This record gives sequence, structure tokens and C-alpha cells, in this order.
Amino acid sequence: MRTSQIAKRFLNYFEQQGHLVVPSASLISPNPTTLFTIAGMVPFIPYLLGEQTPPAQRMASNQKCVRTLDIDEVGKTTRHGTFFQMLGNFSFGDYFKEEAIHYAWDLLTTPQDKGGYGFDPERLWVTTYTDDEEARSLWRNEGFDPAHMQIFGMEDNFWTTGGPGPGGPCSEIYVDRGPEYGKDGGPAADESRFIEIWDLVFENYEVDNVKSKTDLHIVGELEHKNIDTGAGLERLAYLLQGKQNIYETDEVYPVIEAAERLSGKTYGEDEESDVRFRVVADHVRSALMIMSDGVRPSNVGRGYVLRRLLRRTVRSMRMLGVNDPVLPELFPVSKDAMAPNYPELETTFHEVSESAYGEEDAFRRTLEKGTTILDTAVSKAKSSKAPLVSGQDAFTLHDTYGFPIELTLEMAQEQGVQVDEHKFRELMDEQKSRARADALKKRHNVDVSVYDDFKKQLVQPIDFLGYTDYSSRSR
Ligand code: ATP
Repeated sequence: MRTSQIAKRFLNYFEQQGHLVVPSASLISPNPTTLFTIAGMVPFIPYLLGEQTPPAQRMASNQKCVRTLDIDEVGKTTRHGTFFQMLGNFSFGDYFKEEAIHYAWDLLTTPQDKGGYGFDPERLWVTTYTDDEEARSLWRNEGFDPAHMQIFGMEDNFWTTGGPGPGGPCSEIYVDRGPEYGKDGGPAADESRFIEIWDLVFENYEVDNVKSKTDLHIVGELEHKNIDTGAGLERLAYLLQGKQNIYETDEVYPVIEAAERLSGKTYGEDEESDVRFRVVADHVRSALMIMSDGVRPSNVGRGYVLRRLLRRTVRSMRMLGVNDPVLPELFPVSKDAMAPNYPELETTFHEVSESAYGEEDAFRRTLEKGTTILDTAVSKAKSSKAPLVSGQDAFTLHDTYGFPIELTLEMAQEQGVQVDEHKFRELMDEQKSRARADALKKRHNVDVSVYDDFKKQLVQPIDFLGYTDYSSRSR
């Protein structure tokens, strides 16, 4: 089954169960505390909180998501993408735990020729929350093997928004890839053999005084209980397609093939190169999808995340031996793989690709200027007693050659040395103070008050929220 067919099957199934199927919302999160849409429930938050009336009490979607929090896992685990699609069924004060468990079990285990995914029940495992005996009993009633159920505490299996409001236990569903992929003992023992595919959240409590994931107060039962579920489409796809990881599925792999052609290297021959191939395939797709939703490279917020995804792609290709521009080869391939499901990619592609190629050109110039300086700093560090790139060198790279500190950190780390980040930050602060003092001096000499009103109208202060955004699912 192609990825798009797996998604269609999910949405058809829930449509038949009376759900209103809605298209994916934008990747630009409507929630000001996160940069991107990080889960299928994000567009439904006002309905889950009871702030707005949903168009239907049962809804389902295939939501585009970006989680930069998982970036370090990309290419190394089999299951983490920065961009991925989350399938979900939602009930706003309508059905609850019994139906949610039944639907998940039914769709996962019904044979493929009868409209389900046809997973062998013996390969499925679930986790449930400590106090949630009801969920365990419901799983058993469906025919679930009690030996494949594990009990987890609040840290893993209790969901809240992170503040007062709805909360409740969850039950996660895993697929066992088999003994050749790791230890026995279920998800508690090995999360690379037992792959989490679907999380069912049963929102039945009102909580307050949420100090941490495990320190909160349950006020009581909610009048309107909600169901919020999230199933990873790429994870389902790789398991159903018999692939080794999400990067080898039909919507992602064509970029690996294009990178193979460009580099003359073969995927699958050497683990270090394979990680790079997978990073490239993941990041190209994420950048394309983010840009198609209107984000452009910049030094703040979403634009900065995008810039880093593009730059990591270019650098990973360099490490695969390709010094020529790569995005003009890789972007169209990713667009062709994704456009059947996202036809808007065709409309936005001209502008998106021009902007991406421009970013690559600018980055190539930055690299040309700074790489030799960095290499010298790294050899200097290696020959010193404490192998550390000095804060002064990192500062010069930033100030004179436009190397963001993250780039210096990454490139130094690849060569096995750390950077004196503390000193770098000190020098940055000193530079900022000098710049402030200069600005003040200038201000005292020239009447710039005319600009103040102008500034108030036009310039919104933008706080950089960090390279990673906050995962509010807190599971
Ligand atoms: P994990 O612990 O494996 O990172 P999670 O607990 O963070 O997953 P949830 O927040 O429960 O995941 O998200 C719901 C589903 O979305 C997961 O069961 C999984 O199938 C999928 N998913 C989550 N993060 C990713 C990712 N980075 N790439 C691909 N799929 C993902």
C-alpha cells in the first residue's frame, strides 16, 4: 500500500464511523507557543477546550506536522521525521474510550482485502496508564493478548495541555518488528524493535495546578469527555511496506535515490553515509512542505528553522562528496513524490524553489569564506591540551564570516572537537553592549525621534523561540 492509500484507508474508515473528514491545517501553528503544528490535535484545540463548537462531534484528519524537537533522531532511528503526517480521529463530547479502542483495534487488525491494515494481532502491544484498569479491560474484551499489555506511569501515559484544563490517560499502540530488531520484553524494553504507531488519549479529567508532567491536581471528571488520537502515517507506511525505516517509504525514498545519483555513492553500504542520505531526504521534504505553507528562510523563528534544514541538507550532501548545488536536483524530486497528495505544491513550486536555491547559493558563499578558518581553528584546538575551539575563533567566524554558532558547533563536532560556547556568548554579549552604547551616542547627537512612531507601527519585536519548539503533547 502506498502512503497515500494508507491515509485514505484511515479517513474512509472513520468516515464510515460517522466522522467528518477535514483537510490538513497549515504547518504554521495557530498556537502562539509553538512555531509549527506538532500534532493532529493542534487545529482542534478550541473544540477540545470547549471554547468553540466543532462543526461535528466526530472528526478525522491527516495533519501535516513538523517537530524540530526530534531533529537529532532523524536518520539515526527508524521512525523520526522532522516533517510527518499524523492521522487522527477525534470525539468532542461524543464517543469515548470503548469506541476509541474498538475502532483502533478494528482498523489495525481487519484484513487488507476487507478495508483494514491487516496487522497480525500477535505483533501488537499496548501500554496503558497505571490507574486505567478500564482501558485494559476494554483491550482484553477486543481479544488483545494480556501478555502484550504494559503499564506506564504519568510521565509516559498521561496527557495534559501543560496547564489547567482537560487531561487524561492515554494508551499507546506498538508493533513488534520481530526478534531480529532487538530485545524481547515489549516497548518498555526496546523502542526500536517495538514501534509506537498510534496514541489514543482519553480526556476525561479536569486538571489544575499542573507543575510538571507528574505533579498536578485532578479536579474531577469532565462533563464532556473527548477523544484525541494520533497515528504516524510514515510509521504505518514503513511497517506495511516492509521497509526498514520511514525514509525508505514511497514519499521519501526518491530523494535518497536522487542523492545517490548525485554523489555516486550507494545507499545501504555504509552506516555513516546512510544517516546522511536519510537526513537529506527528511530535510528536503520538510523544507519543501514548510515553504509551501509560506515560510521563507530568515534569522528568526520558523524562518531560522527552515534555514537550518536547508543548510544541513547542503552540508550533508557535501559530506557525501557533492560540492555542486544540490537543491535544484533534490527539490523537484521531493515535490513530485509529495504533489499527488498535496497538489498545491505544484502551484507554489516556482517561487518556493527559487527562494530555496537562492538560500543555497548564499550558504555556499558563507561556507567558502569560513570553512578554511574553521578548519584552522579545529587543528589548533586538536593540537592544544584541551581540544576546544576557542570562543574568540567561534566569534570571529560568526562576526566576520557569517557562520552561525550552531554551524560552528556542528562542524567542529563532526571533526571531534567541542567549542568554548561560554566564551563565545560572553563575546557576543560584549559586542551587543558596545552596539547599544554606540546607538545611544548617535541618538544623543541626532534627533531620531521622528523614527520612533514609525518603529512602533512597523517593527514588532520578534523573540527567537529557539531552534526546537515545544512539544505540547507532553507524552
Ligand atoms: P516517540 O516517543 O516515538 O517519539 P511520541 O510519543 O512523541 O513518539 P506522539 O506525540 O504520541 O508521539 O504522536 C502520535 C504519533 O505520531 C506517534 O504514535 C507516532 O506514530 C507519530 N510520530 C510522533 N513523532 C513522530 C516523528 N517525529 N516522526 C514520525 N512520526 C511521529
